[in-house]
Amino acid sequence: MANTGYLRLKWAREHMDITSNIRQRFIEEKPFKGIRIAMALHVEAKTGVFAILLKEGGADIKMASCNPLSSDDYVVESLKNDYNIPVFARKGETQEEYYDYLNKIVDPEPDIIIDDGGDLTNLVSSDEKLYKNIMGGNEETTTGVVRLKAMEKSNALKFPMFDVNDAKMKHLFDNRYGTGQSALDGFMNATNILIAGKRICVIGYGWVGRGIAMRLKGLGAIVTISEVDPVKAVEALMDGFSVDTVENAVKYSDIVFTATGMKNVVPYSALLKAKNGIILGNAGHFNNEIDMESIESKNISKERVRDYITEYRLENGNRINIISDGRLLNLAAGQGHPIEIMDLSFSIQALTAEYIVKNHDRLEKRVYPVPEDIDKNVAEIKLNALGIKIDKLTDEQIMYMNSFKEGT
Ligand code: NAD
Ligand code: SAH
Repeated sequence: MANTGYLRLKWAREHMDITSNIRQRFIEEKPFKGIRIAMALHVEAKTGVFAILLKEGGADIKMASCNPLSSDDYVVESLKNDYNIPVFARKGETQEEYYDYLNKIVDPEPDIIIDDGGDLTNLVSSDEKLYKNIMGGNEETTTGVVRLKAMEKSNALKFPMFDVNDAKMKHLFDNRYGTGQSALDGFMNATNILIAGKRICVIGYGWVGRGIAMRLKGLGAIVTISEVDPVKAVEALMDGFSVDTVENAVKYSDIVFTATGMKNVVPYSALLKAKNGIILGNAGHFNNEIDMESIESKNISKERVRDYITEYRLENGNRINIISDGRLLNLAAGQGHPIEIMDLSFSIQALTAEYIVKNHDRLEKRVYPVPEDIDKNVAEIKLNALGIKIDKLTDEQIMYMNSFKEGT
């Protein structure tokens, strides 16, 4: 079993140019020497490479998952046995196990936390012993950052946290192209259904929704967007999609993807109007974008019809199919984002963690953006690795940019 995991880690590492570049410096400089890092991320090969990178940089790592369904058990075994990294995760964790594992990685209390979604941050924030001496932490995803900003506003944030999601080299690629590819990978793996010619509704036209809609269109789907933001709705229209409300779109859609970070965007009332046999999958944060609670309590029958797909018969006699219990389908039913995408995201994570070690004395209990230099550095390493050169502004152009006198 460990061998499969080891090979998956090796394959991922070979395709992670940016982390490989950073690795050389981390091995020499050991920026995390003596630093305890608790990580709650999707535990699979790319995350494993990231954990190994921090360990090679001197850190004392402990890792759990940020989602009960997304762990790769082979990789978990290899990280434990081949790399001696304490990992507490398995695919299909119960709610109890999930929180038990989070508790294990904060014992003894960490110096830095790396979170994806906010559950670890909440846990650390709930106990003074855990946050008293903490240097700070990073948050990976949109919804986690929304929660952090709410904590900051109500003075509940107990330590500095960095908003990794809003770094350009993260969300422009991870949320958009990463989910654009991996949500379709998860969907295809779960359903084996053809996308061409299907009527598909994507709910949410943020970074994730845009990526999914773009790739579905490329495969020949007839895509409708549902939004609550009028600007995004106009953008979707001009990008060539039709726009409709959820209640309406489900009547004619074969498939629905949710990508909002909001709860109950597919309410039970809409499901009662949905096309018979509709397939629904979620690419947003939690398993509450589709009203799973009502589906679970009000269905008249329920059957696991394929790996990852549960068919429910509703009170109106219609069938609906839910992929991976309404949890992130790209990670629960697929392989998550492609390797090169996570290379970008985890490089931002690694350099931001290094920044925390160097600057924690000056940091306050706030949500900080990732320093621009880190974004730029990651972009430059990526271009270098690809052997791509770009132009530089000349002195004349810099002067032109800073002047206002030259005109027609
Ligand atoms: P975003 O803020 O850019 O976009 C969310 C969009 O949803 C916004 O345009 C918003 O107006 C819209 N929305 C909110 N409520 C709605 C409703 N009731 N009906 C229709 N539209 C609604 O966020 P994002 O970066 O696109 O992330 C979306 C979600 O996906 C977040 O929860 C994020 O954490 C998660 N995410 C998942 C992955 C993944 O691997 N599956 C990757 C990145 C982010
Ligand atoms: N705790 C939440 C996490 C939201 S997941 C949950 O319920 O699962 C969204 C994040 O997953 C994204 O920001 C993305 O960076 C990350 N992600 C996507 N694919 C991944 C992969 N293959 N490995 C690790 N993280 C991944």
